[in-house]
Amino acid sequence: MSTRDQIEAIYQQVLTRNAGEPEFHQAAAEVFESLQVVLEHRPEYADAALIERLCEPERQIIFRVPWVDDSGSVHVNRGFRVQYNSALGPYKGGLRFHPSVNLGIVKFLGFEQIFKNSLTGLPIGGGKGGADFDPKGRSDAEVMRFCQSFMTELHRHIGEYTDVPAGDIGVGGREIGYLFGQYKRLTNSYESGVLTGKGTSWGGSQVRREATGYGAAYFVADMLETLGTSLDGKTVVVSGSGNVAIYAIEKVHQLGGKVVACSDSSGYVVDPNGINLELLKDLKEVRRERISAYCDTVKAATFTADGSIWDVACDVAIPSATQNELDADAAKVLINNQVRVVAEGANMPTTPDAVQLFRDAGVAFAPGKAANAGGVATSALEMQQNASRDSWSFHYTDERLAAIMNGIHARTIETAAEYGKPGDYVHGANIAGFIKVADAMVALGVV
Ligand code: GLU
Repeated sequence: MSTRDQIEAIYQQVLTRNAGEPEFHQAAAEVFESLQVVLEHRPEYADAALIERLCEPERQIIFRVPWVDDSGSVHVNRGFRVQYNSALGPYKGGLRFHPSVNLGIVKFLGFEQIFKNSLTGLPIGGGKGGADFDPKGRSDAEVMRFCQSFMTELHRHIGEYTDVPAGDIGVGGREIGYLFGQYKRLTNSYESGVLTGKGTSWGGSQVRREATGYGAAYFVADMLETLGTSLDGKTVVVSGSGNVAIYAIEKVHQLGGKVVACSDSSGYVVDPNGINLELLKDLKEVRRERISAYCDTVKAATFTADGSIWDVACDVAIPSATQNELDADAAKVLINNQVRVVAEGANMPTTPDAVQLFRDAGVAFAPGKAANAGGVATSALEMQQNASRDSWSFHYTDERLAAIMNGIHARTIETAAEYGKPGDYVHGANIAGFIKVADAMVALGVV
């Protein structure tokens, strides 16, 4: 069988075995696209049924999460933890609390996480979890009760050497606090290394909160350098206004770029003078308000409820909201407006046809598994500090993050060139991420 037919047969098996999970199929197809050339170089991977094993999570846990709201009504949500691959280290990946969460979404995120974590060069396997709980409009007490109920089941499946969850959409410092509090109570042990994204006064790492966004900005700076330029004076659009977006904006500004637009699920804001970050942080991190409130304070800014943030002309686009937010139509507009670099701050925000358009137009495009790996990389640094009962300074941790992103960028570019696709970050990230996991799986035998 040709390598192309081998890959196609495995993909068909993925479709059959995981019916009704389109996001997972999409994530698998994106990686498979890069693997034909790997099998041509390394046929031994096919003999070991490595790709088939990689596609099947080691364990999938689905559980009921009952909780009581402030008025005394009982709610039931569904909780998930997919422990995808532990060849390189304990399962590592975030928890997402959002009404769209289902098994297919968790599997797509977990699958991506394997390669992302591998690319960081740090000893972490891949996993992901979450619940279809919507924190929007819920009081702190409701979120706390939900987190406690969620952890009451999850605690038996995780541990510093087993599985180390963290945040993702809808799970930030507040939720990690409630989750850790309940874990500590149930296990009667202060096992700091069981969760990352903790507060810095109780075992968390400096820079973890900023890390995904900062990392994406460092990655963009490296991409621009490869193109012979820099962020200085560049116009940037960052979609979203959550944890990734806020700190991507902060670092882009520090590196000399100007972010002129950001968004939330209600619409987008354009501020021609550059997004006022202090105001954005207050709106989103403190007051938890809609993005339109930005224009109440900044009169020069405009809010658009219907429409696409990608209509805003820019040199650099950093989609940092959610999966499949940037489609082919948006890509065409960006290309027309002469975008030079697109880097995914979110996980799989760009649809496959949009990715193809960027490639065909010669736009440098970096997938999330490379560009947004700074968050999980800093989680691994948090685990390192917890294991040695140490805590590092902001400056030192930020330097480590910058060096890790630099390493990911170099590995991605070198691998793309080595496998005959110079400048193609998608192939470079997929192949470099895959090979490290595959070699470990071969070494560990059929387990
Ligand atoms: N949720 C983040 C991601 O998509 C971070 C996960 C972590 O820190 O474990 O990579």
